Amino acid sequence: MKMRHLIIWVALATGACSTSVPPSVHSGPVAAASGCATPAVRIYFDFEGAPLSRCVINGEREFTLLVAPEHAPPINPSPWYAFRYEAGQGAPVTVHLDYLVGDHRYAPKWSDGSTDRQLEVELSQDGKRASLVLPVGNARVSAQEVLDTRWHGRAMDRWQSGGAKRTVLGRSLDGRPVEALTLGSESAGRLVVLLGRQHPPEVSGAVAMEAFVNRIVERLAEDPGLAERHRFLVVPLLNPDGVARGHWRANRGGRDLNRDWGIFSQPETAAVKRWLDINSSRAAPMAMVDFHSTRSNLFYVQGEEETGPLEEAFLKGWLGDLEGALEGYDFTIERRNANPGSGTSKNWFHETYDIPAYTYEVGDETDRAATRAAARRFADGFLAALDTMATSDAN
Ligand SMILES: [Zn+2]
Repeated sequence: MKMRHLIIWVALATGACSTSVPPSVHSGPVAAASGCATPAVRIYFDFEGAPLSRCVINGEREFTLLVAPEHAPPINPSPWYAFRYEAGQGAPVTVHLDYLVGDHRYAPKWSDGSTDRQLEVELSQDGKRASLVLPVGNARVSAQEVLDTRWHGRAMDRWQSGGAKRTVLGRSLDGRPVEALTLGSESAGRLVVLLGRQHPPEVSGAVAMEAFVNRIVERLAEDPGLAERHRFLVVPLLNPDGVARGHWRANRGGRDLNRDWGIFSQPETAAVKRWLDINSSRAAPMAMVDFHSTRSNLFYVQGEEETGPLEEAFLKGWLGDLEGALEGYDFTIERRNANPGSGTSKNWFHETYDIPAYTYEVGDETDRAATRAAARRFADGFLAALDTMATSDAN
């Protein structure tokens, strides 16, 4: 009797799996598959980057998703959402995004695996509800493109085959590796640190960082002298749990990693610190760039009171000539005096090593091709400015 029950249960479970939860084309599920289902439409949160949102059925082809952050406010208003849907023949599907905290910010990115486009939304007067109409078929909708751990892994694979060494600095609270690449010679006297994805929704910054590092890998391969002089530590995905879980801001520990520098209470920031403690006596840190996204393209740099002639020359040498010179990529330079103990990587690297430490911010909706093209130019300028600083340092 027991055995018969078991067999029936297994058969039902298998049947249920194959009909209600088809295999996702994206990365493995983070949370248990859940969502909404009517006879005509199914909504899923079963891929990496999709937060498990409350889904409310309003009608056969109309749903409301509650877009909520991973912890209580205050939290930076980066209201991330991501889901996929299957809609059978009939009228288009309406989805309302209701924001528990903050207002609508990101234009929905729609992808069916072969076509990507941006969807229009109808916004409520208070900005708390964005309504979108989805065509029939199977597709994914997300606040920004889903650049998941596999996307980052592919970039790291490419850099590795371009000569970078890949290493695991530590593990996140979920046990994901915090990976890093080192470039250039291990005996180089100068160290450059590049950080990315502290804040999960900041995808345009990740696009820039990928192109920036691509260019650096190319240049180091072309110019062995450059690789002899500089060592690079590249940490492209500092918050793997937040990215996988579709967080707005924090890591799994509910902490904004870019307020944890100096405190190092979280495994991700502590892992970078450990590496620096071991390696920064051999190679002196020389510059740090941390890639992020905001509403426009800009660089946060040190305030004038905090910089000496060497840092001023570096700033001018790197960014001065590129202002207004990049097609489709206007940007500003924002000088900000360090707020001591603020916990940002920018302030910590500057305070600790007395080096130029900048935040490279890309606009949320800046054209991605222009972002990549600009990042390559920024990489060239950055390498040139580093060499200038190295030369003046030696004199
Ligand atoms: Zn950020």
